[in-house]
Amino acid sequence: MLQQTQVDRVIPKWRAFLLAFPTWSDLASASTADVIRLWQGLGYNRRAVMLHRLAKAVIDLGRELPDDIDAMKKLPGIGDYTANAIAAFAFRNPDAAPVDTNISRIFRRVFPRHRSDPKSMQRLARSIRPADVWTWNHALMDIGALHCSARGHVWGLCPLAPLHGSKEPKISLHPFMGGVGGGLVRAKKAIKFESTDRYFRGRIVDALRESPMMLKKLRLRSELAGLEEARFQTLISKLVHGGVVEQYKSTVFLAGDRD
Ligand code: SF4
Repeated sequence: MLQQTQVDRVIPKWRAFLLAFPTWSDLASASTADVIRLWQGLGYNRRAVMLHRLAKAVIDLGRELPDDIDAMKKLPGIGDYTANAIAAFAFRNPDAAPVDTNISRIFRRVFPRHRSDPKSMQRLARSIRPADVWTWNHALMDIGALHCSARGHVWGLCPLAPLHGSKEPKISLHPFMGGVGGGLVRAKKAIKFESTDRYFRGRIVDALRESPMMLKKLRLRSELAGLEEARFQTLISKLVHGGVVEQYKSTVFLAGDRD
């Protein structure tokens, strides 16, 4: 829920989700459509589908998520980062070394000569992690949020400052960010969210949360008025392909709503 979604927005949704599905078994036995309905407001509905598939796989496996990183990565919807993050925060597995954007930025600044491709960053994270990966990763995330952000850094207060020696390090910023340390400020051409595929996919799923619908009727919804026919069809195909929506003849509905 938290990936690319703000914490404040997630908290009430997370509480409601746990109230509805307190166990893996509750989640696995729900219909995909009900899980997607409860996901409303979080965006990226495919995550709800993947979480539901994960719950089913966990039940098949014996009702518990494994704490082993490689075993987790074999389950639906769990990639390298998620497996390492779950291992660190849920299981305190000492092998865990999650590297997200914030942690990678700290490493690039503290170890400027180190290769910065994802695999090298992962190796670096593994080589420097202490035994208490839970505390270590919480600390890194806090430093990334409070001191070592994409917009600049707070040199005087950062607990990692001594690692740079006595001189304030020169940090490189994202090309579109200004702030401390300079950086090329470029006005990125703003793309209106209301014109993106993501926006329209969200509106289609919202409409189907209410009830299944004939494609013709869905097409006439005012919030989809700006869509060309071909783009509308492509969005429907992608939602079907992603397992969020199903189509039967000329009717579309949330996955599982026909069962
Ligand atoms: S001292 Fe600055 S660059 Fe180094 S980790 Fe802290 S905030 Fe980041």
